[in-house]
Amino acid sequence: MDPLDSLLLESWHNVSNELQNKPWKLARRMERVQRKELRRPVRAWAVALRANDARIGGEDLYSPGGDEGAIERCRRGYTHPVMLRGRRVRELCKARRIDWPGVWIDEAARQLGRDVRTVYRWSDTGALRYRKEHEPGRRGKASRWVWSDTAIDPQANDGRGPWSAWGSLWQGLSERIPEDFEQRVERVPRLRDSAKDRRTRGDAWPGRYRGWDWRCPGRRVADGTVPGRHVPCGRVCKKLWLPLPAWTIGDALGGRAGAAWEAMPRFERGAGRRGFACARCWGLRFDCPMSNPQAAWNRFVSVVSGGLLYGREVDRGLLWQAV
Ligand SMILES: [Zn+2]
Ligand SMILES: [Zn+2]
Repeated sequence: MDPLDSLLLESWHNVSNELQNKPWKLARRMERVQRKELRRPVRAWAVALRANDARIGGEDLYSPGGDEGAIERCRRGYTHPVMLRGRRVRELCKARRIDWPGVWIDEAARQLGRDVRTVYRWSDTGALRYRKEHEPGRRGKASRWVWSDTAIDPQANDGRGPWSAWGSLWQGLSERIPEDFEQRVERVPRLRDSAKDRRTRGDAWPGRYRGWDWRCPGRRVADGTVPGRHVPCGRVCKKLWLPLPAWTIGDALGGRAGAAWEAMPRFERGAGRRGFACARCWGLRFDCPMSNPQAAWNRFVSVVSGGLLYGREVDRGLLWQAV
C-alpha cells in the first residue's frame, strides 16, 4: 500500500469509531464534500504536462483512425493532434533523477525534455548540481556536467516537485494515472512577432514559431451521467493538468469496508473518467505551504481524502518518515 494511503487509513481508523457513535459528525463531513471549496482540486494532487515537452513525438502523434499527417504537421509547426496514453503520460510526468556521477547538460536536457537553457537555469538555482568541465573533442567554453541530489519534476518551471513540504509524496503521483488512460488533445503553434517582423512583414504574416501550446479540450464531466461530456473551453495554454481522484475508504480497504460504510454517499472520484484540462477549467488551487502550512495541509488532506478527514487528524511528520 502507498505510504499516503496507509497514513490516511490509519488516521481514518482513529476517528471512525467516534464518527460511528456520533453520526451527525459524519453527516457534517459528508456535507462538507459537497461544498464548492472542496470540489476544487489542489496543485499538490495533480500532474502537469507541458506542450513544449521535447519528448512528445513519434508514437504520441499517432491516433487510430486519425489523420496520417500528424507527424508532418508537427515537424512543420502546424496544429496537430496528440494522443495522451496512460503509460506514456506516466513516463512523461514521472519524477526524474540524474544519478551521480551525472551526464553532460545537453544529455540531461534531452532526458528531461527541456531546453538546455532551462537546465542551465536549474543548475544555477540548485535544482541540479553541476561542475564545469571541458567536453572532450570540443573547443571553446567549458560545458556543464550535471547530476541531481533530489528528484526533478521535468514538468515544473523550477524543476522541483510540487510542495516538497509534503515530503516526496509527489514522486508517486504519476503512478496513479490509469495505465489505460487515453485522451486526444490538440497542440497549436505559438506564433509571436518581433518588432522587426512587424515592420518588415505584411499583415498576412502570422508570426514566428516559438514552440507549442495546448488547446484545452475542456474538463470532462465526471459525474457519470453523460459519458464523455465536456465543458467546452478552447483556451490556449502551456500546461494541461490532471488532478488525481480522491482517496476512498472503499478502495483502501478493498472488500473489507463493511456494510456500515456501504451506505455512505459516493463522491465524485471513480465515477467517469478524468482528463487533462487547463488550470482554469479545473479551478486548480495553487496555495503555497510556505505562507500558511496549516491551512495548505488542511486543504490538501480534505481534498485528497474526499472530505472525510481534516488536516489536524493526519500527522504530517509521519509522511516524512514513511517515504
Ligand atoms: Zn480549459
Ligand atoms: Zn489554460
